[in-house]
Amino acid sequence: MKPPAFRYHAPTDLAEALDALAEVGHDGKVLAGGQSLIPMLNMRLAAPAHLVDINGLGELAYVRTDPGGVAVGALARHAEVEADEAAHAVVPLLRQGLRLVAHPVIRNRGTTVGSLAHADPSGEMTAVLALLGGSMTLARKGGTRTVAAEDFFVGPLEASIEEGELAVAAYFPRLPGRTGTEFVEIARRHGDYAMCGVAAAVTVDDDLRIVSARAAYLSLSPVPLVLDLTDALIGRTADTAVWQDAATLAAGSLEPEGDIHATAEYRAQLAGVLTVRALRTATERAALVDPNGNTGTTSTERSAR
Ligand SMILES: Cc1cc2nc3c(=O)[nH]c(=O)nc-3n(C[C@H](O)[C@H](O)[C@H](O)COP(=O)(O)OP(=O)(O)OC[C@H]3O[C@@H](n4cnc5c(N)ncnc54)[C@H](O)[C@@H]3O)c2cc1C
Repeated sequence: MKPPAFRYHAPTDLAEALDALAEVGHDGKVLAGGQSLIPMLNMRLAAPAHLVDINGLGELAYVRTDPGGVAVGALARHAEVEADEAAHAVVPLLRQGLRLVAHPVIRNRGTTVGSLAHADPSGEMTAVLALLGGSMTLARKGGTRTVAAEDFFVGPLEASIEEGELAVAAYFPRLPGRTGTEFVEIARRHGDYAMCGVAAAVTVDDDLRIVSARAAYLSLSPVPLVLDLTDALIGRTADTAVWQDAATLAAGSLEPEGDIHATAEYRAQLAGVLTVRALRTATERAALVDPNGNTGTTSTERSAR
């Protein structure tokens, strides 16, 4: 199908884009990579009167890393964030999640900030931002505000972005100390949205004993769900942990729903299996992080290079 008629705006800088968004108000939508919006227009699931295309805003095409984390501008494509070595060194979970987003062609065009603004509870970046406790910077004509991840995702395909606002950047903070992360998921075909996915972050002490274990779940709830599973694993090492205890603890808080892709029972089963896999790998990686915070890689990752 063809999209409904709309007026197309092509600002060339941020100020011009914010002027356009202020002018069109609730009738307008931002067009970034178009990998979700264009299909929605073609299927007539959205019919904005105005599209404000931000592809001319080169100033927002950045991935900036500082010791505290990674800032991703609104025009950075998934593929650019995934390939960024400095970002990977500081926040490995970004690449671990991005490699599971759709296919390379879609990652070449789709933006990481656009994916967060789209707020699909099956989107990997929503789980990454939520697990890391990141934030979004939103700009409007005459002002800017920062929204924490926990307040940003309001419901399925609903983010806390108000009329006239543009999400200009996402911030993914570095996790403290000896922390390892992993992102695993199961999809019906490679590149499809996952039936269930789990991102995990585990912190160990100098004796490599677990002091914190958390996991974020996608495709299981209207907004990304972050669970603290430390109680099931505290004081254990990668060799002595009873991973199933963590899966059992998680199961008490998960309420998956069934749909045409998977029944609720199957999703619950996947969540348990993936919780164990993600936590185990994250714990092994945490043990490889040196005390200066340099990220470790597993032997599997090294041999894949
Ligand atoms: C076949 C296919 C498979 C896919 N599989 C996955 C997958 O497995 N996992 C996954 O996470 N994604 C998947 N995607 C979506 C992809 O990641 C998109 O890149 C992402 O959803 C949206 O990014 P975009 O830049 O294309 O945004 P657009 O499509 O341009 O916009 C999406 C929505 O966000 C709004 N928006 C975008 N940018 C901003 C901004 N800066 N400020 C305010 N609002 C904004 C738009 O107005 C629109 O409502 C898939 C897409 C396709 C076509």
